[in-house]
Amino acid sequence: MIKVCKFGGTSMADGMTMRRAAAIVESDPDRRFVVVSAPGKRFGGDNKVTDLLYETFREVKDTGKCGEAYGKVAARFRSITAELGLSFPADELLSKTARQIEEEQSEDFTASRGEYLAGRIMAELLGVPFIDACETVRFRENGMLDNERTYALTAEALRGKRRAVVAGFYGADGNGKVRTFSRGGSDISGAIVARAVGADLYENWTDVSGFLACDPRIVPDPVRIRSLSYKELRELSYMGANVLHSEAIFPVREADIPILIKNTFRPDDEGTEIVPTSKYRFGGRTVTGIAGKKNFGVIFIEKSLMNSEIGFARRILSVFEQYGISFEHMPSGIDTMSFVLDESELKEGMMDALVSGIEEAVHPDHVRVFDDVALIAVVGHGMSRNIGTSARLFRAIARAGVNVRMIDQGSSELNIIVGVDNDNYERTVRAVYEEFFR
Ligand code: ADP
Ligand code: ASP
Ligand code: MG
Repeated sequence: MIKVCKFGGTSMADGMTMRRAAAIVESDPDRRFVVVSAPGKRFGGDNKVTDLLYETFREVKDTGKCGEAYGKVAARFRSITAELGLSFPADELLSKTARQIEEEQSEDFTASRGEYLAGRIMAELLGVPFIDACETVRFRENGMLDNERTYALTAEALRGKRRAVVAGFYGADGNGKVRTFSRGGSDISGAIVARAVGADLYENWTDVSGFLACDPRIVPDPVRIRSLSYKELRELSYMGANVLHSEAIFPVREADIPILIKNTFRPDDEGTEIVPTSKYRFGGRTVTGIAGKKNFGVIFIEKSLMNSEIGFARRILSVFEQYGISFEHMPSGIDTMSFVLDESELKEGMMDALVSGIEEAVHPDHVRVFDDVALIAVVGHGMSRNIGTSARLFRAIARAGVNVRMIDQGSSELNIIVGVDNDNYERTVRAVYEEFFR
């Protein structure tokens, strides 16, 4: 049996948590390959090393030199190695890293150093080889992962090794330049290693005892989800349940490798298993989980008889294509069509440009833009089995005094997405949780 263990930022936050992680690895001979994140927060208000590194890059861009932010990064790593009592050349490595950051002038390279340094330290602590992901994770020129090459290189690097530590979050392109995944991407690195070595289990160690039915920062102590299908996970993580990166399922899905979310600080807690949809055991609940995000913009388009106008949708989509904008959802009615966009990804003036483009392309009766919309996804295979789910959902939202701005029911019947004003986001999540879980 082969298990791959990925430890997140809180599990790498200081010497003591790294020791815990190492003890977890060593307690089970099947735990062979370890993927690590950069040190995260040790307490509320603390800095994540990755955030400090992004700040370092800004400093280097402005002044040409690593400054205060890098000083904080270096202090974190020095205190970790001192705490662990390792004979590790921390000072030498940290000065070398500073020089490389100044020479490379690359945001991705700078951001990747948290995982690189944490990986080196963890390998030293476990007394096993360190694998630099530059050698094993390959990105194409367009920034997409070259899956096949990555699996082959990773398998090759790990072949014959009893144990090893692999740095998460980054890889390199064909020219050897470092590239990172998007934030939280060490989860993807862990899935890649699991896939490449043909693991039986991908353990994802974090600071919560599994996937919870909703964000614990909104509802205190929500119930734990015991079992989640890949599809449910994808819906929930894409919509903001950031326990696991939404792209982490792709490498393991193709090989049917289950994921187990575990708590480094309560290793005996059961956690959440995430399994292929075909092996999913229906738990009897109508709703499996709730997730959501704020700050979407909705472009609402109305035109009588748009349904019979051939090429109507295509002409609108070509406006999005022309501006290089992707949208999140596209709920539609007979004479209406809406496009939901992530406002944080829109440059200044882009919304106005899109609206003018759409007006020109299809001459609608009305186009309106709603800002500051929050989306809440209610997800579960059980929803299609239980009559009246949407009635319960909307009654609960109405009872909370919240006005629904938009509804989108996925054609898979796996989710219903509701749009509300940003200000009503938390209240709506609580009301939906109360309805389906209390
Ligand atoms: P790591 O650093 O281990 O990768 P993350 O911070 O990325 O950890 O993810 C774990 C955090 O996700 C939890 O501490 C919790 O605050 C947050 N979270 C958001 N939604 C959920 C949810 N539905 N279930 C559990 N945790 C959630
Ligand atoms: N350290 C990176 C981040 O903070 C990647 C990760 O933790 O998964 O986003
Ligand atoms: Mg994470």
